[in-house]
Amino acid sequence: MADRPTDKNAGERVMLAGLPVRLIRRRVRRVTLAVLPPFGEIRVTAPLTTPISELERIAAGKRAWLQNKTATFPRDPGRERRYCEGEYAMLWGWRLRLVPEIGAPGVTLRQNEMILSARDASPEKRAAALNAFYRAQVQTEAEKLLPVLSHMTGLSPAKLTVRKMARRWGTCYHKTGTIHLSLTLAEYPPACLSYVLLHELLHLRYPDHGRDFHAALDRYMPDNRTVAATLNRLHRISAAAWAPSPDE
Ligand SMILES: [Zn+2]
Repeated sequence: MADRPTDKNAGERVMLAGLPVRLIRRRVRRVTLAVLPPFGEIRVTAPLTTPISELERIAAGKRAWLQNKTATFPRDPGRERRYCEGEYAMLWGWRLRLVPEIGAPGVTLRQNEMILSARDASPEKRAAALNAFYRAQVQTEAEKLLPVLSHMTGLSPAKLTVRKMARRWGTCYHKTGTIHLSLTLAEYPPACLSYVLLHELLHLRYPDHGRDFHAALDRYMPDNRTVAATLNRLHRISAAAWAPSPDE
């Protein structure tokens, strides 16, 4: 079930300070933030005219509080991702409403929707179609970034592949010069991919996470610690990003 634009309580789904938020516009005087049961949805109630940049600033100031509060709620144990109508999918940090279809496997983007086509309605087939799309997205973007990063660092991998990885964002096989990236990176803001690619690239020169490795990271990407923290934080809340809210 989708958001109902005519229902004032439904509001709209937005990302604020990197967190999925339900934004409700009302004739109120000030902005209020709340984290609601049962699964810790963040709800922002704002005056009709407050610009989104101001809401972003307020949410950023309260980010630690929002995260801590959200973490105190359980994840819905009864729900598993089914890739069905009403769920969402992330793409480069954007949250898109999932519209499943039967057909040749693939993904089409339309406004705030992701049309996910698979041969049948099984979660496995739909997950495979979505993962193939993510893999291609990461491969394309990584290949665009690579000449820039290689020029900057003087490093380039012998081989770059994108795959499903259970526990890591990327790996670098120092001896063979091979870098693997996780296809899941397509879900997060583009800076996260830049960070992971740079990180793995630097492992071609520095195999461990020693002082020289971090000095190089800081030199080439001064914001790397923030980006890494963002990636890990977004990953922790990724279950909340795809799931519909309890009242939807
Ligand atoms: Zn590393």
